Amino acid sequence: MLPLPVDLACPPTDPGPVAVELITAGQITNDWKLVVNDGTTGPVTLPATVGVLRHPKALITVDAGLGQKNREKAQPGFPMRWARADMDVPAGATVVEQLGRVPDLVLLTHMHYDHIGGLLDMPGVRAWTGDADWWTYGGGNLGFPPRLFRDTIQWEPQDFEGPGSAQILGRPAQDVLGDASIWYLSLPGHTPGSAAVLARGESGPVLFIGDTGWVDKHLADSMRPWAVSLFIDARKADHRESLAWARAMKAQCPGLRVVTGHEPADLKPVRAPAAQ
Ligand SMILES: [Zn+2]
Repeated sequence: MLPLPVDLACPPTDPGPVAVELITAGQITNDWKLVVNDGTTGPVTLPATVGVLRHPKALITVDAGLGQKNREKAQPGFPMRWARADMDVPAGATVVEQLGRVPDLVLLTHMHYDHIGGLLDMPGVRAWTGDADWWTYGGGNLGFPPRLFRDTIQWEPQDFEGPGSAQILGRPAQDVLGDASIWYLSLPGHTPGSAAVLARGESGPVLFIGDTGWVDKHLADSMRPWAVSLFIDARKADHRESLAWARAMKAQCPGLRVVTGHEPADLKPVRAPAAQ
């Protein structure tokens, strides 16, 4: 485990300008024994959790969840075809169906199929990704034809170390709207360019860590099983450091809500969009 700063600052807990909501954009059936290494077994339904950030200036989502192409079992393709059988995208469950519109911006925690599938329902949308994911996957990943994404999405790869970057909670970060209400943080390892999102929510700060931890148990005393991590985590040492950081944030900052990528307790019913 790499050393961490012993005294990470916590984000302010006073109310911020962002209304934060979690929605479930499809779900994946799995078995606990493939999710955690603490001996738990049995079937589990993992939500494709998407954060909805309503800021006075923009409607932003954290990830895009599963989308129409996943519902139709048209995606993902090779080499992730096997994943189609375990996916379920109920009627009304995609991000666009639940929001009733395309968001102004999507902040991707990483470019795996269950986080970018919904982008195909959002032609023309702006999407941020860590630039290391962009250079690694080139606008598609794990069976998605990159062409589909290059042609339809306005990609904005972020250089965490580049101009305008700051240090937030000890990590390189970009200020998404320029008012310090939403930050896009480097959190590499699960994929090379994985990111976290910190939002100053109306009820306090919320930190989305994507699949650095799939479930809340990963923030406590379990990990992904070793063989699963070997297959799924691109950079193991970076992932261990990023997970240790997320655990430290949760442990040291009781006023901070830390949201994992697929916590079963976050599974939400499909919500009909509000009348436009
Ligand atoms: Zn995922």
